[in-house]
Amino acid sequence: MKKKIVILGSTGSIGKQALTVVSDNVEKFELIGLSGWENINLLKEQIFKHKPKIAVVKNEYLAKKLKNSLSKHFNIKIMWGIRGLIELTTIEDTDLVVIAITGIASLIPTYEAIKKSKNIALASKESMVVAGEILTREAKSRNLNIIPIDSEHNAIFQCIGNERKENIAKIILTASGGSLYNLTESALNNVTVEEALNHPNWEMGEKITIDSATLMNKGLEVIEARWFFDIPVDKIEVIIHPQSYIHSMVKFIDGSIKAQISEHDMKLPIQYAMTYPERIKNNYPVIDLIKIKQLTFKSPNYKKFPCLKLAYKAIEIGGTMPAVLNAANEIAVNAFLNERIKIVEIPAIIQTTMKNHKVKTNPVIADIFDADYWARQEALALCVKNK
Ligand code: MG
Repeated sequence: MKKKIVILGSTGSIGKQALTVVSDNVEKFELIGLSGWENINLLKEQIFKHKPKIAVVKNEYLAKKLKNSLSKHFNIKIMWGIRGLIELTTIEDTDLVVIAITGIASLIPTYEAIKKSKNIALASKESMVVAGEILTREAKSRNLNIIPIDSEHNAIFQCIGNERKENIAKIILTASGGSLYNLTESALNNVTVEEALNHPNWEMGEKITIDSATLMNKGLEVIEARWFFDIPVDKIEVIIHPQSYIHSMVKFIDGSIKAQISEHDMKLPIQYAMTYPERIKNNYPVIDLIKIKQLTFKSPNYKKFPCLKLAYKAIEIGGTMPAVLNAANEIAVNAFLNERIKIVEIPAIIQTTMKNHKVKTNPVIADIFDADYWARQEALALCVKNK
């Protein structure tokens, strides 16, 4: 029996690699549907190759354009917008929905997929950061898996395996430190966009590369880990591991630590999330420990990188605060990328936005969107004021 797969965000970096996993294992997977939003040229190529039954794009105009570019003999339903995404995630007979669209746009499709009792492989950080409490509660009540694709959480997921939750003493998230970790405080003050975008180990989008440089990426991952593994935040520790070969670790009550080690290649966590609970062979790069020689570790510098502490604070406060942290960060990072603020101003903008927020506890999805919208306006006003 083939696993029937739907991929949201098939034209992005994670989505493309998920499709590679599908085409490397045609005997294991059948692609039912995909969404590509604006890049319809690539989407068209993917449709020719994988012959899905459903495709979703951003709007009606692009849907017509895509339809016209495909031959009449193509038996495919093309839809658009958020309704299209919802229909795609809730389509009958799918075994797994891979969610790899960026930003808070991933939240509604993720929520709807869970409500329709779909198992999910989740790459979109924001859903879990802003609404982890809601998503995991809904998934648990239906006995569903939300399998993490993000390399750290996928590593933790592998380390935990069948271990009992009460035996976990600590989750240890590893961080590369990003492009700026070794700079002095005064050098940090004058960092250019180009310097900040120069990540040592991973090739990623601009937003996440800046988040790595400020350590906010790790902060968001602390929040994700809290929900993915239903673990109190004081049991989640961050450690700087510049080589990034250990993707994360789990320490147990007897002092034993399990680590997941592999190359810097997202295809492995994507494949594991898609084949779970099976493991399958592949031809992806395998780590050569002799060549690597050494793995090093140090504590994070919270003073130089306050974003990490802000994330801990947001999840300790809970309710709508993580959504506010996430939204304020997105606005501040964007302002830095557009050279309107300095990188060191990012945490100050987030902190003030958080301070001005009236937290709503036990939020529903609508509260999350309200908080997100409010925080964006607030942070935007602060960015302008700082200028
Ligand atoms: Mg990560």
